[in-house]
Amino acid sequence: MKLCRFDANRIGVVTSSTALVDVSEAVPGWSDDPLSDHFVRLCRDLDTVRPAIEAAVANGQERALADVRLTAPVLNPGKLVAAAMNYEAHRAEMVDRADRSGLAWRMEFDVFLKAPSSIVGPCDAVELPMGTGQEIHHEGELAFVIGQGGRNIPAASALDHVFGYTGMIDVTVRGPGDRSRRKSYDTFSPTGPYLVTADELGDPQAQTIDLHVVHAGVDEQRQHVSTADMLVPVAEIVAYTSSIMTLHPGDVFCTGAPPGVGPIEPGDVMRLAISGIGSMTVDVRAREESA
Ligand code: MN
Repeated sequence: MKLCRFDANRIGVVTSSTALVDVSEAVPGWSDDPLSDHFVRLCRDLDTVRPAIEAAVANGQERALADVRLTAPVLNPGKLVAAAMNYEAHRAEMVDRADRSGLAWRMEFDVFLKAPSSIVGPCDAVELPMGTGQEIHHEGELAFVIGQGGRNIPAASALDHVFGYTGMIDVTVRGPGDRSRRKSYDTFSPTGPYLVTADELGDPQAQTIDLHVVHAGVDEQRQHVSTADMLVPVAEIVAYTSSIMTLHPGDVFCTGAPPGVGPIEPGDVMRLAISGIGSMTVDVRAREESA
């Protein structure tokens, strides 16, 4: 199933490249309250809820995707875990930068936390703080959402704990200072367009990630990689992270930057496309600072 969220908290199943069916009423506890936990519980309970959702699709009326406003295909995750240094070619492009700033520890694979409040949807804009004095970069990444949580999950069964997959642009202020702060500005985690359930996506290490930036009217391919090139695959990211912190249904992960990270500026447009998931086009603009 290809799930989406749209308008005021509604949940849809995408049925073609142009249509969806609203299945909100088939989701137990569904509410338009932005603080609702119905989505987290759907992540936990998909196996039991799936027949009702499939019936809602079979009996429902298709609507045009063009007539709705897609929002991030996740809601109220307890945490947003990000992987660092998960492609060798990205490590290579960052070595000089890390040497200059004396931050060699940043060159090893690890996980860290971004603020979940940085998540926005595929129709929202990324808003750049203009006063950091640093470049702000795109990192187009495969993302995934936890279904059944747990701790000390073995890698061999870790993919059974993944609810589904989506895309995320992990926007990052380069330079000194804590990584969590530099990646947690509001709007710095555009996510989408859809959340494809794990059974439908298949092998998370057999996908293609492609990120273009239109800058000054010129369309540049910045990132293009196979997820087969991840140093630490999804199953091992889940296993490692769950050895540190208990994973809960609805927790969101991004899996690390492919090579080709680069600066974005107000007026740019980013397009992230991931095979098996879809593409989203995200505007970049300057953040309005309060006077
Ligand atoms: Mn990243």
